[in-house]
Amino acid sequence: MPGRAPPPGPRGLLRRLREVMAEAGTVDERLGRVVRNIAANMVAEVCSVYLLRNDELELYATEGLNPEAVHKTRLKVGEGLVGDIAANARPLMLADAQTHPQFAYKPETGEEIYHSLLGVPILRDNRVIGVLVVQNQTRRQYAEEEVEALETIAMVLAEMVASGQLSGGEELAAVSRTATMPFRADGRLLSEGLAIGVAVLHEPRIHVEKTIADDIPFEKQRLDAAVTSMRDQVNRMLEAPDSDIVGESRDVLETYKMFAHDTGWLAKLHQAVESGLTAEAAVLRVQGDTRHRMQAITDPYLRERLADLDDLANRLLLHLAGKPYHSAAENLPDNAILLARSMGPAELLDYDRRKLQGVVLEEGSSVSHVAIVARALSIPVIGGVEGVIAKVEPGDTVVVDGDHAQVFVRPAPDVVSAFHQGVALRRARLAKYAAQREDPPVTRDGQRIALLVNAGLLIDLGHLDETNADGIGLYRTELQFMVRPTMPKAEAQTAIYRRVIEHAGDRPVVFRTLDIGGDKVLPYLVKYPEENPAMGWRAIRLALDRPALLKVQLRAMLEAAAGRALYLMFPMIAEVDEFRRARRLLDREVQRLVSLRKPVPLQIAVGTMLEVPALAWQLPALLPLVDFISVGSNDLMQFMFAADRGNPKLADRYDPLSPAMLSFLHWVVRQCHDAGKPITMCGEMGSRPLEAMALLGLGFRRLSMPASAVGPVKEMLRSLDVPRLADFMSKLYASPDHSIRAQLEEFARENGVIV
Ligand code: PEP
Ligand code: MG
Repeated sequence: MPGRAPPPGPRGLLRRLREVMAEAGTVDERLGRVVRNIAANMVAEVCSVYLLRNDELELYATEGLNPEAVHKTRLKVGEGLVGDIAANARPLMLADAQTHPQFAYKPETGEEIYHSLLGVPILRDNRVIGVLVVQNQTRRQYAEEEVEALETIAMVLAEMVASGQLSGGEELAAVSRTATMPFRADGRLLSEGLAIGVAVLHEPRIHVEKTIADDIPFEKQRLDAAVTSMRDQVNRMLEAPDSDIVGESRDVLETYKMFAHDTGWLAKLHQAVESGLTAEAAVLRVQGDTRHRMQAITDPYLRERLADLDDLANRLLLHLAGKPYHSAAENLPDNAILLARSMGPAELLDYDRRKLQGVVLEEGSSVSHVAIVARALSIPVIGGVEGVIAKVEPGDTVVVDGDHAQVFVRPAPDVVSAFHQGVALRRARLAKYAAQREDPPVTRDGQRIALLVNAGLLIDLGHLDETNADGIGLYRTELQFMVRPTMPKAEAQTAIYRRVIEHAGDRPVVFRTLDIGGDKVLPYLVKYPEENPAMGWRAIRLALDRPALLKVQLRAMLEAAAGRALYLMFPMIAEVDEFRRARRLLDREVQRLVSLRKPVPLQIAVGTMLEVPALAWQLPALLPLVDFISVGSNDLMQFMFAADRGNPKLADRYDPLSPAMLSFLHWVVRQCHDAGKPITMCGEMGSRPLEAMALLGLGFRRLSMPASAVGPVKEMLRSLDVPRLADFMSKLYASPDHSIRAQLEEFARENGVIV
């Protein structure tokens, strides 16, 4: 282009942009200079800046398009190519923009002569606040480096806009306010309830205030020091798992380690610093690339790894900020809504329950243990809300609507008032269940059903009285181990079990011995790396191989129940021999107490969980040896269908109300009844009224569930005629369908069963 100085190169451009910021002049004049400099640097005939204002992308400055169009041309988010870039928050490069189906012609701009277009979103804290576009007359292909260069410039522009340097105070307010539009996201209900509060990110995000470097060598040093400190931290976590890995799974750490040494990633960071960015801005720049790649990739494994890399970038920002151990659990606001990609139960337990109002997860399934713990704590949780973290700012108002499995971020006033109505309705519903507390759990045909609660935390003891349940059908002892920083000693265990037994009084408490492994990680136990932990060295397998832990626990239970009845069961038994071996350990502990002349329980009932299908084929050999059976449908479902219970992609793939699951359970229940051995359902399946109805139909008479389910399940069973349902279901076990949910719903409707 005649008369123009040669482009100054990326570093020179960033310096020039900083000078422009400091220059006098009106906002439009300064922005005009900015776009002129960018156009020259990118060797483009056109450079335009669109900023979001009143929900529309307004042309704020242009070099090359008709100047009359400035502040006149407006596009909706999603409209035209510029709107498309904003809607998808990703760059677009087109050699022939006008033939693109999204092209929206705006005659006032005079852009018809420009064929190629490269546009990138202007992002501030992960939110689109505008779009930066360059255009050329020729049909040219933009190179990858040009896209990256324009993204770097967009980042600097975002800083200028946010700091008010490129717009007067008034306009800035308009721009930043429109960038905080409300939105709603659908997810999956993991724990019911309603909550409103302020967003807290489980992995805190660091704000980058300064993007242009004053001193590039210094920024390089800072970057190198932060990378070294981050590598050391990851290594320490890997090498000393007994002290540092809190819920962090080892394979994620291994991935971190791999990326932390990845020369490609580090080279990109260095290049970004070389181009004139601060170390923090360089990390954001490269993180932006990862996010674009994530959007384009459908392979779940690769997406996971890119998400790990995204996490690692956040970690590096924490190191740059000098806060490598920053934890969101500290300084939690009083009404926190926690947002996380995924979370283990131990991590959830790190937070102060009184302050945590709700949780939103990008992943997670309803039978994952974090969901089970959340239900015990009555914390509403919505899972499977993809991409929510990138759209939320800490401090934003968030509504967690468990009734509709939805999350509202920065809700409009009508949503807030609907929320309050929801709370009132919910209160009324709970009051109704409380009023029905004394109603006996007897079906219409006169059968008394045992309704029990699942427990594991001391908070659950209150639930026993609130619900008037018949006892505790499943006491998950591992939860007490997970809430502590160190292994509870024998005396501490005895004290807990005694407190539970004493609180329950005449009501039975079925203690389950430690079920650790899988997604239940103890912070202080070395986690053995496994390909497939759900099917790995967990629960009774671990206990039989390392019996010291189980022995201490059995001793504590026996002492706690001295002079009373003790009910205990073993988790994940897959064959009769495992039960026999576990039982022998128990018998030996009893003998030991007797020989020491210490008091023992008056009666000991020993049972097993049925969670592994293989055990069902050994029932004739097992039943004479046990006092009772308890079915864990959460694990049973995952092993029956070979479908990981924690994988959100499989969460709805198979239905517990499938002919396979129901006929299997029907067969198991019949064998137990014939042998005169009680059988209880203690998995989450028994907690939903329709599923609970089906369980009664196929023969269960004992259901153990989270306390919140007792009211609705009791209401259901009091309206149910069991023989009628049993007869109806007898024709469905052989059905070839995926599920018989629809038929059961119809039965409930036609027979007035409240589900
Ligand atoms: C189950 O698997 O159904 C069960 C009750 O045990 P947990 O959910 O603790 O694995
Ligand atoms: Mg289980």
